[in-house]
Amino acid sequence: MGPPADCLFCLIIAGRTPGHLVWQSEHAVALRDINPQAPTHLLVLPRQHHRDVAALAADDPDALVGLLRGIGEVAAAQEDLRNGYRVVFNTGAEAGQSVFHCHAHVLGGRAMTWPPG
Ligand code: 5GP
Ligand code: ZN
Repeated sequence: MGPPADCLFCLIIAGRTPGHLVWQSEHAVALRDINPQAPTHLLVLPRQHHRDVAALAADDPDALVGLLRGIGEVAAAQEDLRNGYRVVFNTGAEAGQSVFHCHAHVLGGRAMTWPPG
């Protein structure tokens, strides 16, 4: 089964010029979240459609490693994240996932609290 035709992140990956992306690799791309929850809030997503990180891990381990490497590379390039950052994979509706194309939230530029809400 292919990706849903109306997947927002598939459409962004297909349609955006590289200028809108803060980082990209063979496996993944990064862009700024449209509704940032911290001074720096990036989304890192696999180019291929998988509904969440568990599906990505099961279906394409190489792409998962590419995504995780991407998180480190993106964070290293952001001055705002030099003192640390939070990585979040909301997985499933009750966890707050609203776009069902796997993505990592990378948040920083302020002190993070624990436990998360
Ligand atoms: P989720 O709720 O699935 O964990 O995360 C989806 C994220 O995508 C949200 O933080 C939301 O602000 C972000 N988002 C939704 N639509 C767009 C968009 O069109 N562009 C960008 N850059 N981010 C978006
Ligand atoms: Zn998609």
